[in-house]
Amino acid sequence: MTFDPSLSELADEAKTWRRTIHQYPELLFDLPKTAALVTEKLEAFGCDEVVGGIAKSGVVAVINGTRGAGKTIALRCDMDALPMLEQTNLPHASKVENMMHACGHDGHTAMLLAAAKHLSANRDFAGKVVLIFQPAEEGGGGSRVMIEEGVLERFGIEEVYGMHNQPGLDVGSFAIRSGPMMAGGDRFVVTINGKGGHAAYPHLCHDPVLAGAQMIVALQSIASRFTNPFDPVVVSVTYIEGGNASALNVIPAAIKIGGTIRTMLPETRKAVEARFREVVSTTAKLMQTDAELDWRPGYPVTVNDPEKTRVAAGVAQSFAGADRVDSDWPATMGSEDFSYMLEKRPGALIWLGNGDTADLHNPAYDFNDDAIIHGLRYWVTLVDQQLNGKTDV
Ligand SMILES: [Zn+2]
Ligand SMILES: [Zn+2]
Repeated sequence: MTFDPSLSELADEAKTWRRTIHQYPELLFDLPKTAALVTEKLEAFGCDEVVGGIAKSGVVAVINGTRGAGKTIALRCDMDALPMLEQTNLPHASKVENMMHACGHDGHTAMLLAAAKHLSANRDFAGKVVLIFQPAEEGGGGSRVMIEEGVLERFGIEEVYGMHNQPGLDVGSFAIRSGPMMAGGDRFVVTINGKGGHAAYPHLCHDPVLAGAQMIVALQSIASRFTNPFDPVVVSVTYIEGGNASALNVIPAAIKIGGTIRTMLPETRKAVEARFREVVSTTAKLMQTDAELDWRPGYPVTVNDPEKTRVAAGVAQSFAGADRVDSDWPATMGSEDFSYMLEKRPGALIWLGNGDTADLHNPAYDFNDDAIIHGLRYWVTLVDQQLNGKTDV
């Protein structure tokens, strides 16, 4: 296999972009500096179309191949940072207090920019490549908003590919899993309305505290008695509010409980939500109270398409070697908003080794610049194989 020597020079250049982006982290949908840097570079590279302002700060670029009609595939990265204080003491550390690129989205952005530069100059492929730079992965569902604003139809996207760095996985190694690979996460707050009164006369009240206690216990039966033990489900009640510690002789009129639910299969997610609603309303009724449910849907289960997973693993193997690609990487209970795109189009998310670094979302974390060349090779080899049928670059 041969490599274009300019790819390593390009990776060095991308390292400087990555460090610039790292110094000016921005949050959620509000990424004026990052989006401006991305747009300016994509225009300078000569992409055929560069469209900004999608989901506020999202940017999409199109690069047409010179071999005529063919498939349209999308390569997606995220650009947003986290609201936390960086503690790396690195020369390129964040210059913005309480904002930090602690998930490596600076590296993801730089690698996709590098791929855009290479592909703009090397268009020997059929069809077109759409590069998606999305905002608000960290809790805002930027991917969902880009879909709602029509990004998949507007650019004729047929397949979607994503990449995320993984601390603990060697630099130069990749990992992937077919099917569900990250959990779906939903949140809930239940207000239990009863009838308050004097605690010495409970028969004259409808006690929401006792109803809440019953409900918390009953909810634990979902994971232990309702779903298959081989299908992971987490139901965690993490919040209780009610009553008053300086009025211990008063049964309150209402209390609140809240928490989160994680599931690994889309059908289990639906079934668990239905069962959850049933347990909440019947327990409330049993205890002569009413329950008001505030259901807050989170990111869906991230499901890799089996065929595209084979494509992605094959691409990584073609340059990294078979022993550096783990195709059976364990699923995690974390969530990722690329899942919205994978619900709409076949594709796959692959883990890129970040080496022996601090974990994601840790104040000591930094994206590993040595990983850039491997991520860049993945993107350009993927395009070459998917739009050209070639097996190496
Ligand atoms: Zn993150
Ligand atoms: Zn992330």
